[in-house]
Amino acid sequence: MAKKQYPRCGRCPTRVCENWGAKASNGPPSLEKAPAFCPMKLMPELLAEALSEYDKPEVREFARLASVQEAECYERLPDGLRTKLPRIEELIQFARKCGYRRLGLAHCGGLFSEAVLLTDILENNDFEVVSVQCKCGAVPKERIGLRPEEKIAPPESWETMCNPIAQATVMNRAEVDMAVMLGLCIGHDTLFIKYCNVPLTVIAVKDRVFGHNPLAALYTSETYYRRLRNKIE
Ligand code: SF4
Repeated sequence: MAKKQYPRCGRCPTRVCENWGAKASNGPPSLEKAPAFCPMKLMPELLAEALSEYDKPEVREFARLASVQEAECYERLPDGLRTKLPRIEELIQFARKCGYRRLGLAHCGGLFSEAVLLTDILENNDFEVVSVQCKCGAVPKERIGLRPEEKIAPPESWETMCNPIAQATVMNRAEVDMAVMLGLCIGHDTLFIKYCNVPLTVIAVKDRVFGHNPLAALYTSETYYRRLRNKIE
């Protein structure tokens, strides 16, 4: 029996959706060459429904500003396109475009120095910065059921749990225009996203080995980190 198809853009041999280099006047690309697992072929009604969300004026404007900002991150020179803005400048420019004044910084305690630097930069750019560190609440890990031997610190030591729900709740109460996540752990970030009710973006994710650049593991996965590509038997 044929296996049920599901979207797998990450395996696409054609990426016809990009239609890169085509003339706008020629309209959208033909789906003829798109693979059978292409979401455009599998679920056109759902995509049409998703598209109609952009008809809401506030969503349309937000999406428009995001795309304007995206384009401003490049410059077109005689020898081609060049990138020109690091993500921090992209954040500043986008927040300004949206008319945001108060930003929320939800950061990890392990990235406290980075939080200080980012706060300096954002305040120097005239934003008000509400910041909440992950350990806020000072609740011991035992409160969520950790056994002493499951802590990072020695079993007999106090260890404050990461508290992303507190971080999100404070952001919501402070009515920040946009929350910015800085270096939260996997899982803690998931909870923060679940409980945060304000617009949210990420300036950096945590990677304890690669200086908070998890993609470095991919870039070295054919050399030093080849073990990552081993198939589980
Ligand atoms: S949307 Fe379709 S054509 Fe585009 S990358 Fe995904 S599978 Fe490929």
